[in-house]
Formats: sequence, structure tokens, C-alpha cells
Amino acid sequence: MAESLAGRTALVTGAGRGIGRAIAIGLAQAGADVLVTARSADEVAYTVAAIEAAAPGAGKASMMTADIADNRQRQQVIDAGLARGRVDVLINNAATVEPLGASAAIWAGDLRQAFEVNVIAPAVLAAAVVPGMVAAGWGRIVNVSSESGSLASMDAGTPAYSVTKAALNALTRILAAELRPDGILVNAVCPGWVATDMGGPGGRPVADGAASVLWAVDLPDDGPTGGFFRDGQPLPW
Ligand code: NDP
Repeated sequence: MAESLAGRTALVTGAGRGIGRAIAIGLAQAGADVLVTARSADEVAYTVAAIEAAAPGAGKASMMTADIADNRQRQQVIDAGLARGRVDVLINNAATVEPLGASAAIWAGDLRQAFEVNVIAPAVLAAAVVPGMVAAGWGRIVNVSSESGSLASMDAGTPAYSVTKAALNALTRILAAELRPDGILVNAVCPGWVATDMGGPGGRPVADGAASVLWAVDLPDDGPTGGFFRDGQPLPW
């Protein structure tokens, strides 16, 4: 991160492990006060400890254990974020994916759950933090997406995941269009194939995936909004 985030607050979902953990560490190293959230208390605590080790004296970290598919727990995350004044940086990173090779014929249940985590939670969190961003005249929302959600290359394999990432991309464009006059940049970012629990072995390092996302936080105020990027380069919708 080139820009300092000192004095800024950030909320990162799915920050208990993988790319979200590395994003949270990167934001704290840039000086942000980061709210780290996921379902696993152990993993969230590990991320907070990693932040304290990686960014001593820089940004702070606090933790919130919650299932963002659950209305009440999602609201608790929002309340914890807004209790710190406002949320300047929202990283909608948490996601769920069905096993590779899932058939479209049996995926209706997967689709409902995937929409809750991958689309509805990002939309509800964004709606909650936007008023504070508008009042401040500054904000960054990054929806961590996937090329699996690109209509240009849409394929079988993970139907619920792909449909919900396409919907997240649509949400990104709509939010960006609404918020462009308010100094808030909203972008969708694919981290690339990354070696995490979700990505499995063989992908690129977690730090590279996180850097792809942090790029969209580090944008100048006149930077792009409403785009779909990986490593700072546009991806086809
Ligand atoms: P991981 O599976 O490693 O981490 C996912 C995180 O999301 C965990 O912290 C998990 O924690 C959290 N999470 C999942 N469901 C919920 C829920 N219902 N409520 C709260 N937190 C939840 O995934 P990655 O780090 O690989 O993925 C991060 C992002 O990158 C995702 O949006 C993914 O779609 C995207 N991506 C990843 C790729 C890859 O190759 N890894 C490729 C393209 C995109 P817990 O289970 O404790 O809740």
C-alpha cells in the first residue's frame, strides 16, 4: 500500500484465513484500524495476533465472530463496525463455494446459501457503511470476486458460485454508479487462483492474491470505479 490509512477504519469479512487474513494484515500495516470477522473464533483470533505481530504500532485490530449469512449476526458486525465512528474501507471477501463439479440440476439449495454469503451480505454491509462514507466524502468498497463470475467465460463446474459472483459484479457496477459523485470507489477484484482452503494447492501465494485486492483500496481519488480487475488489469465482465 502506497497510501497511508492512518485514521481510517476498515472492515474485512472472511479474514480468519487465506486471502482475507492477508488483506487485513496489509490494511493494518498501512495504518488502518481493522475489524476482522469470520465464523471461526480461533481463526479470527489468529489473524488479530498476526496483525499485532506484523504491524506493531501501526494499525489496530479488533475481532468479531459472526456468520454473515445470518441476519442477526450480520447486524452485529455492522454495529461493531459503526461503533468505531464509521467504516472507511469495506472488503467483502468472505465467500462460499460448492465442490467442483456440482451439477446445476441439484444446486438450488447451494444457490440460496451462496446468495446469502456472496451477494446479500456484501450488499447489506455496503448499504450500512455507505452513509458514513458519503458524510466523509471518501470510501473504498472492494468486492472480492472471481473470473468464475465472468459471463464472457462462464462455464459449468461451480454453478452457485459462478452465478453469485456474476451478481456481485452487477452489484459492484450499480453501487459504483450511485456513489461516484460522493468520492467512494467501488470495484470488483479477482485475486487470481490462490493456494488457500478454497483454492486448493497449486495456486499462487496468498500475498499475491491480497495484493490484487489491496490495489483497489490504494487507488487515488480519481481512480477507476465500477470495474472488474485482477492485478490492476481489467477483466472481461
Ligand atoms: P478461504 O476459504 O481460505 O477463506 C474464506 C473466508 O471466508 C474464511 O475466513 C471463512 O471463515 C469466511 N467465511 C465463509 N463463509 C462465511 C460466512 N457464512 N460467514 C462469515 N465468514 C465466512 O477462501 P479464500 O481466501 O481463497 O477466498 C477469499 C475470496 O477470494 C473469496 O471471495 C473467493 O471467492 C475469492 N477467490 C478465491 C480464489 C482462490 O483461488 N482462492 C479464486 C478467485 C476468487 P469461516 O469458515 O470461519 O467463516
